[in-house]
Amino acid sequence: MHSSFDTRQWHLSLRQYFFGHKHCYLCRQASLDIICSCCLSDTALPHFAVPGFDLIHHPSIVENIVYPYFNHLYALGEYKGILRQLITELKFANKPLCAEVLATLFVHFTYTRMSQLDDLPDALVPTPLSAWRYAQRGFNQARLLTQALSRFTDIPIIEPLKRARHTQAQSQLDKTDRLANMENAFCLVDDIDCDHIAVIDDVLTTGATVNSACKAIVSAYPDIRISVWSMAVTPLTKPEILKSAYSSGDI
Ligand SMILES: [Zn+2]
Repeated sequence: MHSSFDTRQWHLSLRQYFFGHKHCYLCRQASLDIICSCCLSDTALPHFAVPGFDLIHHPSIVENIVYPYFNHLYALGEYKGILRQLITELKFANKPLCAEVLATLFVHFTYTRMSQLDDLPDALVPTPLSAWRYAQRGFNQARLLTQALSRFTDIPIIEPLKRARHTQAQSQLDKTDRLANMENAFCLVDDIDCDHIAVIDDVLTTGATVNSACKAIVSAYPDIRISVWSMAVTPLTKPEILKSAYSSGDI
C-alpha cells in the first residue's frame, strides 16, 4: 500500500519534471509552477490596497457605471503594470498561457478572500465575443480565463449568453458611445439554473460591456445574484470622480 503510494508520487513528480513549467512566466527563473513563489509574493503587482475586496463599494470604479446590474465586483488590480502587459499579450499577441498566469494570480489573491467570506458562485459565465470578433481573433480571451479559473476552483462553466449583434471595439469609443454601442448587445440562449453566478471578463474600463451582459441575465432572472470577476479594472481619476459627483448633483 505504502510503496504503491510512493510509486504514484514518483510518477507524478517525473511527469511534472518533464511536462511541467520549467520557468516562471514572469521572472523566467527556474520553477515547476507557472508563477514562482517569489513573484506570487511580489508587492509590485498593481493590487488594490485590500486584494479581494468587493469593488462595488469603491467610488472610483462604480461611479463609472450608471446602473450596475451586478451585485459584486472582484478584480485583481488596476489595469497597469504587469496586469496590463499580461492582458495585452493574451488578447493581441496570441499567448494563451497568459490566461493561466492571470487565473493563477486571481485565485491566489482574490478568490482566496472570497472563499473565506463563503461567497462563491455556483457557475462561471464567460463574456461572449461577437462571431465576427471571434473569427478575427480565433479565440475568446474571457473563455480562456474562465476555463483556467474553472480548473483551479472546481466551479463549473455555463454559457447562457450570446452576442446579439456585432459591436464596434469599445477601445475606439468614448464613454457615451461605449454605452450606446453596448445597448442590448447580448441575449440569453440557454436557461440558468443557479442562484449566484460569476461573469468573467479580462478588463473592465467603463463597465459597459459586462454590465450589458448582466442586464440580459437580470431581465430574465430578476432574483439572481451576479458577481463580476474581472482580471483588471480602470479606476476613475480624482478629477473624473468630482466631475461625476457634480453632474449627479452630489456636490
Ligand atoms: Zn517568478
